[in-house]
Amino acid sequence: MIAFLERFVPEPEPTEPLQPDPEQKPTLLLTDLVDLQGTINFTSPTHLGKDFGGIHETKPLAAIHAAVTEDIARVIKSASRSPILTVAARGNGHSINGQAMAHNGLVIDMQKMDNRIQLIGSGSGSGSELRYVDVGGGVLWEDLLTRCVKEFGYGPRSWTDYLGLTIGGTLSNAGISGQAFRFGPQISNVSELEVVTGKGDIVVCSNTQCSELFFSVLGGLGQFGIITRAQILLQPIPHKVRWIRLIYAEFDEFASDAEFVITREDSGDDDDSFDYVEGFAFVNSNDPVNGWPSVPLGSNQLFDPTQIPESGNPVLYCLELALNYRGQDDVASIDKTVAHKLQQLRFARDLKFEIDLSYVEFILRVKRVEQEAKANGIWDTPHPWLNIFVSKHDIGEFNRLIFKKILKNGIGGPMLIYPLLKNKWDLRTSVVLPEGEIFYLVALLRFSLPYPKGPPLEDMIAQNQEILQCCMTNGIDFKLYLPHYRNGEQWETHFGKQWPRFVEMKAGFDPMAILAPGQRIFSRTR
Ligand code: FAD
Repeated sequence: MIAFLERFVPEPEPTEPLQPDPEQKPTLLLTDLVDLQGTINFTSPTHLGKDFGGIHETKPLAAIHAAVTEDIARVIKSASRSPILTVAARGNGHSINGQAMAHNGLVIDMQKMDNRIQLIGSGSGSGSELRYVDVGGGVLWEDLLTRCVKEFGYGPRSWTDYLGLTIGGTLSNAGISGQAFRFGPQISNVSELEVVTGKGDIVVCSNTQCSELFFSVLGGLGQFGIITRAQILLQPIPHKVRWIRLIYAEFDEFASDAEFVITREDSGDDDDSFDYVEGFAFVNSNDPVNGWPSVPLGSNQLFDPTQIPESGNPVLYCLELALNYRGQDDVASIDKTVAHKLQQLRFARDLKFEIDLSYVEFILRVKRVEQEAKANGIWDTPHPWLNIFVSKHDIGEFNRLIFKKILKNGIGGPMLIYPLLKNKWDLRTSVVLPEGEIFYLVALLRFSLPYPKGPPLEDMIAQNQEILQCCMTNGIDFKLYLPHYRNGEQWETHFGKQWPRFVEMKAGFDPMAILAPGQRIFSRTR
């Protein structure tokens, strides 16, 4: 148990594996990399040693601005000739625990690559054929959205809530938002990848070609290869969205309605389904950040606490839904459709909030939050976020012990909770999930002012540990999403029965453990 507790404490950077010999490194790099089309910067910019989490900081040996995929292959091959060098692909550095860092290693700034975006599959115009976009691994999802809207009229089916993340960064984890119940996570919407393995081989892989590499890389935490290109499945872009928030005082009603909505499509009753399903818990008080005021969608909407059903619960629940529609659909018909879809749900009838907005505004909704957070100074403070998948079987207990007790005063940011369907995930990928067909994502997204205006970082980390400890003690079936552990033993526990395969794939595709050292799964070998 003590070992378990240790794994979430921010620790100093490891001293053992990654100490290059200063005499050796420049010679090695300069001789091996003369053909590089991009550049190497030995006075690498400080941001490459930091991330969004703001908890860890390190110093890479050099930053690589790769111009082409072959540059990445050369860099990895060069690193393999050193006994100690490691290589980290850095997407947008939006990890929490130093996952995109390489202490004394080489950091490849993926956003600096030639990141093309190209539509594939023109089709007959009937709209029935599949379309894909071929996109560089360092492209931000928000840039992909812009191109898709401007030029293609087709866009990805599965998003993240926030789009300032790279294609390669989210595909190395899963990529989840309110569309995942229907289309699966982003890793379920990829048809082909171009990858540079830890041996420096450039491989195009898919479901049918080098499929072991393809599935290992998806959700593979950067361990098997660097994604330089991905083909992503598209759908026609809708014009508008009705965005809805419904309030519940009782967790059981919230959860059973959320599960009802996400399973409608599977039951063939598409009519009752929505295009986006998420949810969150919030504090039953007028606290401006954690409480009732955090719920309304428009500045003209007010949360009337007299409408909260009698329950005495310290937290309430919000089911968040969205319905896509076409520009020519009239509002009255959308009202009717929505009313029909909501009629079986048990939310507090006078605590319903809805707005209509363009599809792009909806998909970019967290951009506004980012701008506000930057203005308030809470974007650049430490973010000890915790993301957990919890099985449906244990989510009631999780609510009772964690939301209603440990988190009853909130966390200074959103506490997301919503169900997902395992049958939309390809179990051949590297992601590990809890047992059961339905599981919940719980995301504790702390945004606090710097201490002493906000809580000390240590207290927030300690609360995360308390939550995980509570899950362990009470036998709650969970897996960390965007996981962070200190050593191979803890990773073995995380992967469970998938660990032997993970190790085997590592031996096959990155046998010297050159890639993604910031995950701390494997140590560099010679
Ligand atoms: P980085 O942090 O740069 O890298 C993450 C890991 O992937 C590192 O190990 C890195 O070495 C590796 N990597 C990066 N690029 C590549 C590549 N091309 N090939 C192989 N490996 C690579 N996640 C969700 O699922 N849904 C959300 O809604 C969501 N919202 C978020 C909102 C915010 C504000 C933040 C900070 C994070 C959010 N995340 C969300 C988490 C996010 O998906 C992950 O942190 C993701 O890794 C960040 O992408 P990045 O491009 O910044 O990756």
